[in-house]
Amino acid sequence: MESLKPTIEEIASVANYLWQKGWAERNSGNISARVTGMLSSGFQISASPDVSLLQESFSRLAGDLFLVTGTGCRMRDVYQEPEDHILLIRITTEGDRYEILFPVSEKIPDLQPTSELISHLMIHQYLKEHKPARKVIVHTHPSELIALSHSPVYKEERVLNRLLWGMLPETLILVREGLGVVPYRTTGSIELARASIRALRDHDVLLWEKHGCLAVAPSATEAFDLIDILVKSADILFKCLHAGYTPEGLTDDQLDELRQRFNHT
Ligand SMILES: [Zn+2]
Repeated sequence: MESLKPTIEEIASVANYLWQKGWAERNSGNISARVTGMLSSGFQISASPDVSLLQESFSRLAGDLFLVTGTGCRMRDVYQEPEDHILLIRITTEGDRYEILFPVSEKIPDLQPTSELISHLMIHQYLKEHKPARKVIVHTHPSELIALSHSPVYKEERVLNRLLWGMLPETLILVREGLGVVPYRTTGSIELARASIRALRDHDVLLWEKHGCLAVAPSATEAFDLIDILVKSADILFKCLHAGYTPEGLTDDQLDELRQRFNHT
């Protein structure tokens, strides 16, 4: 497990950021990371690992290893006791089951992966094929962005991205494709996962209408950063509105200049 420690510690740090930001009430949010090939060769797998059936088949993930936060786990607990709240699972060679390789937690003996595991695996399967460098998924509940998705005007993807890019230059520089807005679907449903995969073709950060955000990136920290910069923009927007004026925002010419200078199309 020593070789996975830096990834586990990074997930724990990001879990803390989510909690400190106020985006992770109770047990909301989940994080997963594809860590295939990162396990040191000396790691001894439990002789009788727990094997559970998946409702879908994930043949393209056969043999893959994932770190996933546990179901019902609070992000603040993931931060404080990561090895009791993060599991290492392996998809079986048939792709229709997973084995829990770690932990055998005395604290939570029946710890299971996040209830959103199927959605995470569906998205990981897509990422492995189409965006292989993006190995981490972070889902969380940033209030400012959820609030914007309650507005029929702001939840229109083109309008929302123009607005957020206009609040400060770094938003366009760092989130060049903007937010992908996913229309409301039931939490944890296959439909939500499918709609997310469609939106991930053009984006790395999604806004699930009236629910939260999902970001994909090479690391948990980078996934957090994508959401954080967008929340910063939303926060500036709300501060202006609370102060009683509509923000001017960067002009089209200023945004175009940024695109050219930072080579964005
Ligand atoms: Zn959620």
